[in-house]
Amino acid sequence: MGTLEISGLRKQFGGVVALAGVDLTIEEGEILGVVGPNGSGKTTLFNVITGVHKPTAGRVTWRGADITGLAAHAISRIGIGHTFQQAMAFPGLSVFENVQIASEHCRHARNEAYPWPSPDALLSFVGLQDLRREIAGIMPFGNLRLLGLALALASRPTMLLLDEPAAGLNDKETAKLVDLVKQLPGHGISVCVIDHDMNLMQRLCRRLVVLDFGSKIADGPTAEVLNDPKVLEVYLGG
Ligand code: ADP
Repeated sequence: MGTLEISGLRKQFGGVVALAGVDLTIEEGEILGVVGPNGSGKTTLFNVITGVHKPTAGRVTWRGADITGLAAHAISRIGIGHTFQQAMAFPGLSVFENVQIASEHCRHARNEAYPWPSPDALLSFVGLQDLRREIAGIMPFGNLRLLGLALALASRPTMLLLDEPAAGLNDKETAKLVDLVKQLPGHGISVCVIDHDMNLMQRLCRRLVVLDFGSKIADGPTAEVLNDPKVLEVYLGG
């Protein structure tokens, strides 16, 4: 049984079919990549999983429990996290204070004893421990991305959804991010990442799912999917 099982997921915005009935399983401890051209439904899929949008039809189950249509705060509380947009960090506060606030917020939201990981442990994990007193809003973009990852991890997710995590990062920063994300399954966190950067996806994911016009057209080991004629047609056929 997968950690997250999606079946027949459909989402329409008026007459626009963003998801046309998607079946998808995300397994415990894996890093799954979801790719597809612009407008293929990747963001909508994330938004339905995280409770931003309610699906038009279909079912989402988490460890066997039906979570279809739950509100975003409820989804976050059961352990499905996502990266914060950088605007969600408090730009006038320090790096440490941002992570501390995120950790505190989650402590209250989930009503548990003060959790591992502590803000300091999170900052060490993402390599920002020496910048803990820096004001978040004036940090370079690459460091803000790392802070975004620390903030997402502060909610102690068991699954983390990453939306274009390396967008705007240089090669060195991307390599660091890939290294960090690959460590997450070892900390009990499954990962689902959406991106159209195939190079990044090849480095991160053993399994890829391809969406096209809201439908899944391929699902399997990364190398196989990238050689699938249907996928090549979508990417090269224009
Ligand atoms: P991707 O992330 O793969 O680029 P999206 O999920 O953003 O694709 O979009 C899929 C389709 O749904 C597109 O046709 C897009 O225009 C449409 N869409 C997405 N969100 C909305 C919305 N809030 N309102 C109307 N149409 C939307």
